[in-house]
Amino acid sequence: MTTGQADYLIKGGLVITGDGISRRDVLVKDEVIQRLGADLSGEPAARVIDATGKYVLPGIIDAHNHPVYADRVDTFSESAAFGGVTTIIPFIRNRRDVGIEETTVESIEAFMEEAQRDSRLDYSIHAILVGDDDVEDQVPRLLKMGVISFKMFMTYPRRGIMMPDDKMLKAMELAANDGGMAMVHAENGYCIDYLVDRSVADGRTGREWYAPSQPRILELEAANRAATYASVTDCPLYIVHISAREMLNTLDHFKGGDLRLYGETCPQYLDLTNQSMLDHGALAKIGPPLREKEDNEAMWKGLASHLLDTVASDFCGYKRSQKYQGGQSVGSELTEIEAGDDLSIFEATFGGNWCEQMLSVVYQEGINRGRITLPRLVQVMCENPAKIFGLYPKKGALLPGSDADIVLFDPTVAHTLSAESQHCNADFTMFEGKEILGKAVFSMQRGEVIIEDGELKRPRGRAQFLPGKSELATWAPNGHRIS
Ligand SMILES: [Zn+2]
Repeated sequence: MTTGQADYLIKGGLVITGDGISRRDVLVKDEVIQRLGADLSGEPAARVIDATGKYVLPGIIDAHNHPVYADRVDTFSESAAFGGVTTIIPFIRNRRDVGIEETTVESIEAFMEEAQRDSRLDYSIHAILVGDDDVEDQVPRLLKMGVISFKMFMTYPRRGIMMPDDKMLKAMELAANDGGMAMVHAENGYCIDYLVDRSVADGRTGREWYAPSQPRILELEAANRAATYASVTDCPLYIVHISAREMLNTLDHFKGGDLRLYGETCPQYLDLTNQSMLDHGALAKIGPPLREKEDNEAMWKGLASHLLDTVASDFCGYKRSQKYQGGQSVGSELTEIEAGDDLSIFEATFGGNWCEQMLSVVYQEGINRGRITLPRLVQVMCENPAKIFGLYPKKGALLPGSDADIVLFDPTVAHTLSAESQHCNADFTMFEGKEILGKAVFSMQRGEVIIEDGELKRPRGRAQFLPGKSELATWAPNGHRIS
């Protein structure tokens, strides 16, 4: 079958999908994958790319990031691209806490304008609903815009962004009624504030007191509460950045019932422990906190056993000096200050820049150490986020008709992660010095080369907004459940 010259023939690679590994050539034409076949070398193509010895993966989807701080969508999407990411799903919320009077809809419209101009990568959007949002007004409007996922914080009451339980129930009901889903940051904020206050009152403000002030039980309690609310309102629920080993029991319990429940973890919870906090203090401060080796192992088991469904980054681009500053707000000016030895860990800023290293870390620790298979990696980093957020099979798949979002991964390239080699604005990485065997060496989106020969080829302003389509989402009435 020949239907005119293709744009690209990607030849001789091993195509990895959630179903397995096969030797396939891939023909790309008019922004989409036209055909796959065992030998398409006779097909005319404007350009032939030799993928011999490489894995051919769908572009990675980073379904959790915050490009609204020191790294905005311009530098964030560049950095993500170097990590093999082709699609990003940022979280956007209103900025009233920094004096910008706007609704969540208006914040998202402003972000879309910026992303249309500055992003290198296609993007979808999650809304964050906070306590002062008019959910009855905003949720239906957002759904009409193609924003179908609504995240709520169960913590941070003093930052004014915690969603009270009664309002969370209402938001879940509204989302469920109209084809949306809820997402939660599951930690009990009142208990955290209580423990932090007690620690501060006792003069325990050093880095060693951070993890004890946010224990695993608080994640477990909030997740059980959120899953209970989601069950009561029949609202699909996605729990972000799962970190505590006990969470596998919660996922197992609620996934066994009628609730459509999905769990995400992140490279930092798969590979780093509280030792990073003890070594680096404020730079390693994230919520939930880095935990223990047993928790890392549990996260791998969760991915392998399908209790956890996705890996995403939770990227927040901050410079070293900004991490030492108390508080954080969307859109606020962050002044860079010098770290003082007397800094209270409770005054430091939350967040880390984990996106560009994500695929490397998951590959090194997951594949090279035998904890998950390559098809499972493609499920949790490509297929499942696309399925859950209503983007499949346009994104997350290597199927005829799917967008030609393709990554070539060379398993023989050894490299070392470092702040110097990363492309975001942040001047540190918690993965500094980590040795990796295997690297994303080429990527394209909709048939346009993004990364080649270690260089970014795609200009800004070519990204497309991807409305989430709830009728395509895994949890929709006719959707298929992901395995
Ligand atoms: Zn986050």
